Amino acid sequence: MNRLLDSAWKLPFALVVGLLAGGLAGWLAGGHVATGVALVAVAEIVLLLTHLRHIAKTMINSSTPDKNNDPDQPRHDRFMMRSRRLAANLHDLRRAAGNLPDAIVLLDQDQHVRWFNHAAESLLGLRRPQDRGIVLRDKLHNSELAGWLEEPSPEPLNDVSAPGQPSRHINVTMLPFGQRQRLLLARDISHMSRLEQIRRDFVANVSHELRTPLTVIHGYLELLDPEDVPHLAPVLGEMRAQSKRMGQIVEDLLTLSRLETQDHVSEERVQMAPLLATLRKEAEALSQGRHTITVESTAELDLLGSPKDLHSALSNLVSNAVRYTPTGGRITVRWERTAEGANYSVTDTGYGIPADHLSRLTERFYRVSSSRSRDSGGTGLGLSIVKHVLGLHQARLDIRSTPGQGSTFTCCFGPERLLTPEVHDVSKPLDVH
Ligand code: ADP
Repeated sequence: MNRLLDSAWKLPFALVVGLLAGGLAGWLAGGHVATGVALVAVAEIVLLLTHLRHIAKTMINSSTPDKNNDPDQPRHDRFMMRSRRLAANLHDLRRAAGNLPDAIVLLDQDQHVRWFNHAAESLLGLRRPQDRGIVLRDKLHNSELAGWLEEPSPEPLNDVSAPGQPSRHINVTMLPFGQRQRLLLARDISHMSRLEQIRRDFVANVSHELRTPLTVIHGYLELLDPEDVPHLAPVLGEMRAQSKRMGQIVEDLLTLSRLETQDHVSEERVQMAPLLATLRKEAEALSQGRHTITVESTAELDLLGSPKDLHSALSNLVSNAVRYTPTGGRITVRWERTAEGANYSVTDTGYGIPADHLSRLTERFYRVSSSRSRDSGGTGLGLSIVKHVLGLHQARLDIRSTPGQGSTFTCCFGPERLLTPEVHDVSKPLDVH
């Protein structure tokens, strides 16, 4: 097309030259100058019309892409095809995200709702289109989720009731997304929490049902005097030890069931000085002089929480240290301040624990060595109880250990659980029962 337009200015010149050439040819052929000019003029008109038709055709074709002549056409086609494919993929993705069973909400840096899927409507109670652009925590006010949204932590919010459907349970996670956006994911875990509830009820009921018959058996075994039946004395001793162990397992299971269903603890002052004195006495009684036991207290702080549960957790760690440290070992109990609050730790020079077991120690019935644990009289539930008690006190358990050298179990308490001590009598052990 451009080439045609470029050559257009040459046309009048060519016409004039053509007419002159026609006239000259007519004159040379016998003096018929006019005839020569007329013939050339007709030929030029025909040529001109053909040329104009060509220009018109070219102009029409240039307004609609010509697949054969445009060198950019294949690239254009590919681009169009890719765009269409992308648009279709995007549409499919949006539909898939929109129909996921988990709620998804796209938030900007100020928690304004940018987009949400269908599950977010039912689980979180968001409405379309009026809730686009609102601040999510304002919309969910008065729910547990709103409290968490004030300062969302990287840890998921576990098992809370769904603001849009209070009978359902959700797990909520906040993920960084794009430049400064966030993606809120709420998973419906109602089915899992129902199963978990069934499991908890089952364990609690079985433990409760076993308690009475075990107490009866234990009572009768205590009544039997081995001296009356000397040939059965070893059997009787073993039966007594096992029934005691079963009784302890049942009690620990009941304690765990109670702790699992609790979401808060009593808020009482737990005086640490008498509690540490009690723990020392218990350790010495269990050790029977086989270990060197030291208690170091520099924190000068009391705890706020449940005296019974805290005693149970802290004494479990001391009892483990005694049971898993061979004769002649050292056990050190420390209560000290830290930059984040205060730590209660129990260090022993015992068997230690290989690193790959550490993360699983607080699971129910998890043991590094079953035979050693059984021989030591453990139930396999002690550290599980410790973990639950600490959780209820917003504290955490830190475990460090080197096989063959010993272990340190540390309970880290935050400032919200610490109190300045009142004047008290340290010599009097704490009554926790
Ligand atoms: P158990 O009643 O078997 O002691 P726990 O829950 O208290 O159950 O402990 C779980 C396991 O962790 C124990 O079986 C033992 O293998 C290991 N463990 C706990 N404390 C210590 C320790 N101080 N030193 C070495 N191993 C330990």
